[in-house]
Amino acid sequence: MTDVTVEPGSVLGVLGGGQLGAMFAAAARRLGYRIAVWDQDPDAPAHRQSDHSFTAAFSDLPTRKHFSSLVQAVTFEWENVPSDLCEWLEERHRVRPSSAVLRIIQDRVDQKQCLQSNHLPVVPFVAIGAPDQLMDAVKRIGIPSLCKTATSGYDGKGQWPIRQNSDVDEVARTLRTSKRSASRWILEQLVEFERELSVLVVRGASGECRTYPVVENRHERGILRMTLAPATVSVQVTARASDLARQAVDVLKGVGVFCVELFHTADDRLLINEIAPRPHNSGHYTLDACTVSQFEQQVRAVCGAPLGEVRQWSPAAMVNLIGAEMQAVTSGQAFKDLLSLPGAVLHLYGKTVVRAGRKMGHVTFLGETREAAAEPAHRLLARLAALSAVPPA
Ligand code: AMP
Repeated sequence: MTDVTVEPGSVLGVLGGGQLGAMFAAAARRLGYRIAVWDQDPDAPAHRQSDHSFTAAFSDLPTRKHFSSLVQAVTFEWENVPSDLCEWLEERHRVRPSSAVLRIIQDRVDQKQCLQSNHLPVVPFVAIGAPDQLMDAVKRIGIPSLCKTATSGYDGKGQWPIRQNSDVDEVARTLRTSKRSASRWILEQLVEFERELSVLVVRGASGECRTYPVVENRHERGILRMTLAPATVSVQVTARASDLARQAVDVLKGVGVFCVELFHTADDRLLINEIAPRPHNSGHYTLDACTVSQFEQQVRAVCGAPLGEVRQWSPAAMVNLIGAEMQAVTSGQAFKDLLSLPGAVLHLYGKTVVRAGRKMGHVTFLGETREAAAEPAHRLLARLAALSAVPPA
């Protein structure tokens, strides 16, 4: 299939204006594109990178029409944008990934069923249609397990662990009174993994795929804390993880950038946790360590341009700056200390409102070896841990 190329000078629309949208916009602008950002939050970082900014609700019809009149192609920076808006835009423009792919990914149950029906290994799960079904689901999946909202969860939000029988009633009560608009949940086995891995896959409209190196992730309280690229796993595990990730994006027939998150268990199984239909926090290292970043790949895939090289030039370790950590390490002596760490490349997202758990920036450390990249990253992590141990004045 030949893919018509949307050329530089055109306007690319991005739904969502967080740091992922901002980094997409920066990559697109470097390639000569113009950008229309739509995010209700006027302080969203991508607005500052945009040629056209929209802050109305996504349901606002005049804004839909105005946005649509400007753009030649559309993408989104996270999966919780309304799929009906993507569908509406798709009747007029190229939207990548498509609304059909977005719909499947937006619902954890649909996503897992799609992968499972294509014989791809996923965490054992049961769909829950009403809080009263939780007990039956626990009987089937067992304890420990993890109940999640089927839609709209991110960074560990909308998740309730079940570690003992007495948790079941409590979680069912929480589901009943949940303010979220959830009407469907999923119960997953709580996997005792050895490590979490992820793989970025770029897929063009022709089905051509490129996979970045397999990376290793560490989470804290459901939020990504650190990524080590490449992962410290065997050649065989690397090959299996890349293969699984590519197959997962293939079965979805996704066009764009996807991140496939995997659990690697002690008995050497790989299970798909979830797929993000966009660049991912665990791929931020590609900005500084690879020939072509995940954000430039998103531009290329959306525009139907040739996909870029995924070559990693240098081992890298990425540490997220979360909430108040950002101010603590970017002022006074701490700022100088941070920038003095070997191989440190700092990225701040320019968010003015600091909230607990909010991703404010990240630091990528480059080193000649994985150990050389990881060592200053661990020093920074130790500093951040010491900060959180100090009670606020
Ligand atoms: P998610 O939003 O589903 O990616 O969950 C965020 C993080 O919670 C994951 O990266 C894991 O660290 C943890 N997690 C999610 N699901 C499971 C599971 N079924 N078993 C063990 N840990 C999980």
